[in-house]
Order: sequence, then structure tokens, then C-alpha cells
Amino acid sequence: MIEQEATGIPTNLKIGQVYLCLHGHFYQPPRENPFTGLLPLESGAVPFTNYNEKITSECYRPNAEEGNFDAISYDLGPTLAAWLEQQHPDVYRRIIKADHIHRQQYGVGNGMAQVYNHTIIPLASARDKRTQIAWGLQDFRHRYGHDAHGMWLAETAVDIESLDLLAQYGITYTILAPWQAASPVDPSEPYIIPLRNGRSITVFFYNAPLSGGVSFDWHTTSDANVFASSYLKEQVVKSKQEAGEAQLIVIATDGELYGHHKPWRDKFLAYLVNHGAPNHGIEICSLEYYMRMHPATKEVQIREPSAWSCGHGVDRWNSGCECTEGDSSWKPALRQALTNLNQHASQLFEQYAGEALDDPWAARDDYLSLRYGWETAETFWARHGKQHRQPDDAQLAWRTLTLLEAQYYHQYSFTSCGFFFEDLDRIEPRNDIAFARRAISLTWQPLGINLQRDFVNDLRAAKSGRSNVNGADLYKQLPVVPQGLLPPLD
Ligand SMILES: [Zn+2]
Repeated sequence: MIEQEATGIPTNLKIGQVYLCLHGHFYQPPRENPFTGLLPLESGAVPFTNYNEKITSECYRPNAEEGNFDAISYDLGPTLAAWLEQQHPDVYRRIIKADHIHRQQYGVGNGMAQVYNHTIIPLASARDKRTQIAWGLQDFRHRYGHDAHGMWLAETAVDIESLDLLAQYGITYTILAPWQAASPVDPSEPYIIPLRNGRSITVFFYNAPLSGGVSFDWHTTSDANVFASSYLKEQVVKSKQEAGEAQLIVIATDGELYGHHKPWRDKFLAYLVNHGAPNHGIEICSLEYYMRMHPATKEVQIREPSAWSCGHGVDRWNSGCECTEGDSSWKPALRQALTNLNQHASQLFEQYAGEALDDPWAARDDYLSLRYGWETAETFWARHGKQHRQPDDAQLAWRTLTLLEAQYYHQYSFTSCGFFFEDLDRIEPRNDIAFARRAISLTWQPLGINLQRDFVNDLRAAKSGRSNVNGADLYKQLPVVPQGLLPPLD
């Protein structure tokens, strides 16, 4: 204030505060053998046995130990969280604790939930969308001990139906790329997206130049002081600052860049949040905290479907587009094979699980809690069983639970990573096929119905552009499983 008087600026003029929120999306595609639960040895991760171990050492552990999760906004993918909890419980607990610390300090959490299987949610049926959201929220509640208010959408892929479902589930905010708005937006403030029946959700559009720079440019993050004094300062909206209005800079990136994709950037992050930004008058905050202080006032429509890493709707994960080089015709073929399988299995699930469950789909939405023991079998069956209890027929109960487990793996088979890259002959598409095979096994065992034949036939249409293999070849190359778990291959 004294300085302001000295510089002649009237003392009643309030300088608008600039806030900074860094969001890290922490996630690794699930790669375990679904029949054994074990990760394969990954030679590229040497001297570590697999990439999860390597990335833990380079990124998750140092960021946790340096307290970086306390200051940023973050989502920890459920499948990664489950692995960390098992393999590195100290790192896992420190990451979860960050949200608790943030709640104690600010009254709101800084952890966000994630759609459970990193599914491109606009491409899913309404029923599958609901399950992805419900499971993501159950997982969050179990891990953090409270309900999530924000949800990260895989690849920030979005349509109105998905946002409306989020709102119905009590989610109040998410993050999108600025080009996902239907008209130009000012990313220094959140926006309201009007939804159905008077519902709405708040969207934070991230700062694209800074998020891109932090993700892809080496120099941007080499010095936290320079980052604050030049890169951040350049993005400040002067007119808002002079008018005394608050503003927010959101930087949203994959979390793994802080230490894994970019060595030592965990140190950059620690210095930035503790010294670099505050020393330059920029206050670190989380998204929900900002919403509490400065709720969105402007409305905007979104482009649907759209995503952060594709400029062609969500074609990258569907029909294919120029975002990946070469022939993408394997993408629609693989998606069709998985969709046909899912639809056929859905009919069987409705028919057979419907014998013991009031509403099989409502039961599926709650299945995660039963599977992981977050609720008891008694309460699950009391809510979903016919006559509000587990059937007396043990065979019928087993068949129902096995078909629910099949549904669990059908959801896994749509993990977005299978469609992200340029070719079919890679580990990510192979994993989606492996999860589908696990689902086929879980239908075959209780019902003796062979979903494998049609699936393998459909997979023949998915052809690698760089090797001679097709999807059926990938299926047949999957690890051998004990006899009886799968129908014989024709
Ligand atoms: Zn594209």
C-alpha cells in the first residue's frame, strides 16, 4: 500500500490477484495379464522390471516426497492407484494425504476423480458412460474418504451427455482445452456449461500456450524463477489486473512429465509452487478453491465431441485421423470388434444376471465396491438382489457374480490407449484385446457360450499397417491359459 502511494496509484485501487493452478493427470495404462494380475517384464524399463517402477522412481515418489501434490491439482488414475497402493504404499499414502492436507488448509480437496478405465467417454453408450463415472467416483470415495467434486475425463474427451451425467452424479467441475469451447473463451476464468433440465457444470479451460510449453518444450521449465517472471507474467490479463479482478492461469498436463518425461522437473515444480510463483506475486491454488472464491459467471457451449489431443472430434480413437501417421483403418475395425462383443455380452448379461438381480445395470454400477470389498456382499445383494437378498441357489449366485466380473473386463477393453497410437501391432491394442479375452472367458465359464468365435472373426479386419499381423493373430499370440477357461480356438 505504501508503495502504491509512492508510485502515485490511488490507494483505493485494488490490484487484481493472479492465481496459478497446475493440474497433473497421473495415469499409466493397465498392462497386467488379466488372468494372473501380473505385469510383464518390460525390457525398455531397465534397470527397473517395468515402467510403473521406473516412473515411480522418477516421478511419483519424488513428487510425493517433495510435497508437490499438496499444492497442485491432480487426478491419480484408478488402475495406477491400485498398483501403487500394492507396490509402493508409502508413495500412495503420501499422494492421498495431499488431498487431506489441502482440505484442512482450504476446506476443499485438490484431488479429482477420473473416468474409471480411461475410456473415450463420448464414444461409449449412455449405460457405459454411467458405469465409468460411477466406478470412478466409488474408487475416489474409497481412496480419499470423501466424495469427489471434480472429474478428469480421459483425453478431456467430452460431449454434452457425459457432462450432464457428471452433473447428475454431483460433479461440479472439469478441465477442457480452450478449443473445446464452441466460441472463443478467456481461459483466465471458469465458465458455466448449461446442461439438460437446468443442470450445469463449471469448466476450467487450461492455458494452451503454457500447458503446451510445459509439456513439449524443454526450455520452458528449465528455471522456475524465469518461468514465473516471464512465461507466467506474459499470460496475465492486464486489464483484469488493473480493474481489480482476480484471474487464474490453469496449466494442465500429464503428471509424468514432472520427473519422468522431463528429468528433474519435480524440482522445478517444487521450486515454482514454493518460491518462483509466490515471489512474483502469483498465488498457487486449486480449482475448487478458486471456484469458491470466484464462481464462474459467463456461459459457453462446448464443441462435441472433442478432446485435447485430437483436432478431429474424437476420430483419433474411432475412425482414425491424421493425428497418427499411416493407415488408421485398423482403428474402426478394432472398435467394431470390441463393440460387437460388448453388445452381445450385454444381452447375455441382462438375460442371465437378470435372473438374480433386479436391475443388472444398476448392480453393475455398484459392482466395483463389491469386487474390492468396499461394501459387503450382504448390503450389495440387499440392494440389488431379487427379494433383496443373495439367491439360495449357489450356482446362480456364482454365475451372476462371474457375469458381473465379465462386465468389469469389457469396460477395460475400451481403455483409450489401445486406439491412441499409429499402429495395431503394439502393446496397447494387444492389451485391450487381452482384456476382451478375459471377459470372453468369464462368460464361457458359467454359460458355456462361445463369444470368442465372432470376436476373432471380427478382429481379422483390423490389420497392422507396418507388420503382417491382424487382430486375430494378436489374439492367438496372447499367453496360454489353463484348459477350460476359454472355448477352443477354431
Ligand atoms: Zn485427430
